[in-house]
Amino acid sequence: MKDHVIISFFIPHQGCTSNCVFCNQKTITGHRSGPDHHEVTRTIEDWLQSLPPDVPCEVAFYGGSFTALPWEQQEYYLQSVQPFINSGRVKSIRVSTRPDAIDTALIDRLSGFGVKTIELGVQSLDQEVLKASGRDYDVSLVGEVSALIKQKGLTLGHQLMIGLPGSDLSKELDTVDRVIGIRPDLARIYPTLVLKGTPLARLYYQGKYKPLSLWEAVQTALLMLTQLEKAGIKIIRMGLQPTPELQRSGEIIAGPFHPGFGELVQSELFKWQAILLINRFMESEVTNRLKIYVNKRDLSKMIGQKRRNLQALAARFQLEQLEVIGREGSEQAWVGVGQWHREVPQLVLSRQSFL
Ligand code: SF4
Repeated sequence: MKDHVIISFFIPHQGCTSNCVFCNQKTITGHRSGPDHHEVTRTIEDWLQSLPPDVPCEVAFYGGSFTALPWEQQEYYLQSVQPFINSGRVKSIRVSTRPDAIDTALIDRLSGFGVKTIELGVQSLDQEVLKASGRDYDVSLVGEVSALIKQKGLTLGHQLMIGLPGSDLSKELDTVDRVIGIRPDLARIYPTLVLKGTPLARLYYQGKYKPLSLWEAVQTALLMLTQLEKAGIKIIRMGLQPTPELQRSGEIIAGPFHPGFGELVQSELFKWQAILLINRFMESEVTNRLKIYVNKRDLSKMIGQKRRNLQALAARFQLEQLEVIGREGSEQAWVGVGQWHREVPQLVLSRQSFL
């Protein structure tokens, strides 16, 4: 059973004051326009009918710059949710927006309507990268606005991108360091894709932009994920939602798209966790037959797509037999290892200790 449901509405490009070179929200979200009051009401009612009454629900407005909309329009959307907030069936609202479209008075107004989370499209904290991406605010704004949101007691999210024009690995990692300094509660990581109809597509065809390969994007996201998780910042998504519109032939011109991008990154993380654990295990045991243990829900991440992790581990440690066993339990992201003839792990490494 789900422990928390987010009912999402998309307002593609509404409120956006500039055209970020990589962005085509109509393709990304699969929506051509925002919902009206009736659609918001009907969608929430449908969701609530399908869920047990004790599952907490949140309503989200994504895909544009919510706080840059004229106040009447923000109020229109927020008012549509109020009956459900007042009845207690919807606990809160979250919105995504740009860092240059928010101030104290606005945060207070939004709070009054039940907005409890603001996700900022940060993308990069490098001024040159922002400029090359068509975002023309001063990078220092992100820290200032983030502090305001936290002071007001709201949950703060940062949306980050990798592979933006003018960026490189050191700029991505520098952005992560600065994000950690700001301490958002949660973050998302999106690889830059070259989407049809965007200025980035023009740059790509002119040979002025080269996207990351899938391997580079996975490795970069992995480095960012480990740093952010170590700092206690929760990563709630990696990679764009594989909507039918996004996957329609010709919409993605180039770039590191994979429908299970987040799973690829997580899988890579499990591989390195297992490598460290097996190295430690082999300090006191000599064997070429091993069992690896994980939580049942982590099985596919540990095994990897097309059993890649198992093949990599078997080759690295010259193993003749290697099996992954899934165990029941609530705690996730641990890895255990033991001799082939044993039925229990002899050594275990939690994600926190690994990081
Ligand atoms: S990235 Fe955000 S601000 Fe930029 S165009 Fe897309 S939705 Fe608008």
